[in-house]
Amino acid sequence: MSSVRVRFAPSPTGLLHIGGARTALFNWLYARHMGGAFVLRVEDTDQSRNTEEAVEVIFRGMRWLGLDWDEGPDGKGGVKGDRGPYFQSQRGSIYAKYLEKLQATGRTYEDGGALKFKMPKTPGVVKDLVCGDVTFDRTNEPDLVIRRKDGTPVFHFVNVVDDLEMGITHVIRGEDHLTNTQKHLALYEALGAEPPQFAHIPLILNQSGSKMSKRDDGAALEFYEKAGYLPAGVRNYLCLLGWSPGENEEIVPLDQLIQRFELKNLNRSNARFDAVKLFWVNGEYWRALPDAEFEKFTSECLARACPQSSSMEPALRDGLRKIMREKVRTGQELADWFEPYLTEDFAYSDDARKKQFSNPDAIKLLSALLAGFTEISGSLDDAKAEAVCQKVALEASLKPAKVIHLVRASVSGRTVGPSLFALLTVLGLDRVKVRLGRTLALLKEGQLGVAA
Ligand code: GLU
Repeated sequence: MSSVRVRFAPSPTGLLHIGGARTALFNWLYARHMGGAFVLRVEDTDQSRNTEEAVEVIFRGMRWLGLDWDEGPDGKGGVKGDRGPYFQSQRGSIYAKYLEKLQATGRTYEDGGALKFKMPKTPGVVKDLVCGDVTFDRTNEPDLVIRRKDGTPVFHFVNVVDDLEMGITHVIRGEDHLTNTQKHLALYEALGAEPPQFAHIPLILNQSGSKMSKRDDGAALEFYEKAGYLPAGVRNYLCLLGWSPGENEEIVPLDQLIQRFELKNLNRSNARFDAVKLFWVNGEYWRALPDAEFEKFTSECLARACPQSSSMEPALRDGLRKIMREKVRTGQELADWFEPYLTEDFAYSDDARKKQFSNPDAIKLLSALLAGFTEISGSLDDAKAEAVCQKVALEASLKPAKVIHLVRASVSGRTVGPSLFALLTVLGLDRVKVRLGRTLALLKEGQLGVAA
C-alpha cells in the first residue's frame, strides 16, 4: 500500500449532491490509482442538521456508485480494517486534546464565551495542485472562531484536526473550499504540523452558468438512482466533470479510470453540468450491458417503478423488455414504456388521437387490418405482421409507414414505442386482434377523436 491517504468528508445535509458525489469519486479514484487508502469521514458536528437518514443518504449514494471506503472507527478510536466510516460526533476527546495544544501556543483567546484563533495578517499562500499558488491578502482577515459559545468545535478546526489525525496526504475537495484552506493552513502552522497537499477541483455549474445548487434539477445523486440510470454510466459522466481522460474520450471503463486518474489531469476551468450528455453516456452503458446484467438491473427498476409488471405473463414482460431496450436509455423510461401493456384497457395519448384517430380513413384501414390479422394461421411473427401491414397499405395506396403508425397507436395508444413488427410478435396474435378490435370499436363509437 502506498502512503497516499485521501478522504471524503461530507456534512450530512439530507442529500448527496452531484458535486459531493464527484468529490467522493475523485478521492476514491486517486486512492485506488495510487494503491492508497480512502477514508470516509462524516462531518456531523452540526447536530441541528444531522440525522440518521441524512447520513444514510450519503452511504447509499456511495454504495450505489461503488465507492467503497477503507477504514473506520471501532466506535471510539479507529481500527484499521473496519469498514465503517468515522463520525466527527464521536471524536470529541480528540478535538479537546488538540484544542489544549492550540491554546498552549498562546494564539487563542476567549471572546464572548467563544474561543478564537488569532489569524496571521501576513499573506497566505495556498499551493494547490490544480489552481497553482493562490495568495490571500490577510490584512483584514478576522480571527477565526474555533469553539462556539456552546462548547462545540467549529468546522475549520475539526476538519484540520481530523486530516492531521487521520494522516491525510491529499485533500481533494471543491474549489469553494479554497478560501477555507488558507485559514486551515494557519491552523496547521500553529499546531506545528505539516499540512497535506491540496487539490481544489473546479466548480460544477448549472445550465445558466451559476454554481449548481441543491435546488437545480438533477442535483441530487438519488435522482439518478430513482430514474434508473446505471451507476457505471453516472460514475463515468461524473469523471468528465473536471477531469480529462484525453482527446475526445468520453466512455472510459472503470479499470481504465483507475489506471489513468491523475491529479495533474484535473481541469482548472469550471465544468458545466449537462443532463443531455449524462443521458447519452448512460445510454452507452445501457447498450453495452451484458444481457444477464441488463435483466437483473431492469428487473429491479421495474419492480420499483412499475410494480404491476410483476403480474404480467413472463414471456410478455421479457419480450417487451428485450425489444424496448434498443429504444430507451433508463429504467424509468422502460417503466413508462411498459404502461400500455399492463392492461387491455390502455389509454390513448392526445398525440395518438390527433395524429391517427382523427383521420377519416382510420375506421376503414383498421377494419382491413383486423381482417388481415384474423386470417393469419399459426402464431404471429415479424414477417407475417409486416405482410399484413404491406397488403393493407398497398390496397389503400398508402405508404407502409402510414399504416404502421396507425397500428402502433391502435395496439398501444401511443405514437412511439418499440419496433412495430417485433412488438406485434411479442404481444402475440390474440392480443393484437383484441387490441385492434377494441380500438376499432371505440373509433366507431366516436370516442377516439381529439380530446377536448
Ligand atoms: N464537510 C465539508 C463539506 O462537506 C468538508 C469539506 C472538505 O472536504 O474538507 O463541505
